[in-house]
Amino acid sequence: MADTVNQATRKGFLVDTSRCIGCRSCQVACKQWNKLEADKTANKGTFENPRDLTPALYNRIKFIEKETDGAISWQFFNERCMHCGDAGCMKVCPSPGALSRTSDGIVVFNKDKCISCKYCVSACPFNIPRYGADDKVSKCHLCTDRINGGMTPACAKACPTETLKYGRRSELIAKATAAKKTLYGVDDLMGLGVVYALEGPPEQYGLPARPSIPLSIFLWKDVIKPLGILGFWSSIGAMLLHYVTIGPKKVDDDLDSREDGHE
Ligand code: SF4
Ligand code: SF4
Ligand code: SF4
Repeated sequence: MADTVNQATRKGFLVDTSRCIGCRSCQVACKQWNKLEADKTANKGTFENPRDLTPALYNRIKFIEKETDGAISWQFFNERCMHCGDAGCMKVCPSPGALSRTSDGIVVFNKDKCISCKYCVSACPFNIPRYGADDKVSKCHLCTDRINGGMTPACAKACPTETLKYGRRSELIAKATAAKKTLYGVDDLMGLGVVYALEGPPEQYGLPARPSIPLSIFLWKDVIKPLGILGFWSSIGAMLLHYVTIGPKKVDDDLDSREDGHE
């Protein structure tokens, strides 16, 4: 079934980078709610910690350090799954239900159905899915369990500056547009479920200026896979046609006659 998003009812996040103070309450709240173990890290001469998403870290704060006239300043960026409207991970996943979309437009995962092929890793334009010791996919699921219980996602609830705002996507975008914010992700990939208000070009935050799903994924999903299915059914059709018009192949009769020495 085609992956479609209802833009009218879609929920998501607005991340206003100008408000973030880098406190990382969001990281800790996510770990607590999802009972994720601590990541072992080493000091690499930066306050950024951990330095990358992990199977047990669904969101993290990137520290973007700048030096101006000898003075150091930071910008902070909350990295997480974007819950893309056109999700490369879902497009390429061969195991039904391992990655799926909720009625709110959120891309969730089911470890029990993940077959550990890791195709979603190469299909994600934002390098988000991670695999742990269990060799199963993990990433932000936008706290669907909390949302279904009428609660706000844990990271947004814990954020003291309202950098992370959860709600109806169209309303979050309308408010940010009225406030003249520079938005990222409104239209790309049929709209990202996590839209950012940025204070500089996307590349400054490590984001692709125009995110897209790798061409190889389109070839796999839209050309090679359908051709393979067509080839399969064509073979079945040809076999049936042969059976109806010519009849079954008499292999056993030939064998019997050889075994009886009538060759
Ligand atoms: S950011 Fe990556 S993992 Fe998240 S929905 Fe988009 S393609 Fe999938
Ligand atoms: S929405 Fe939930 S799962 Fe996603 S980063 Fe926030 S706390 Fe973690
Ligand atoms: S909790 Fe809010 S202010 Fe603190 S680091 Fe996370 S996004 Fe930034």
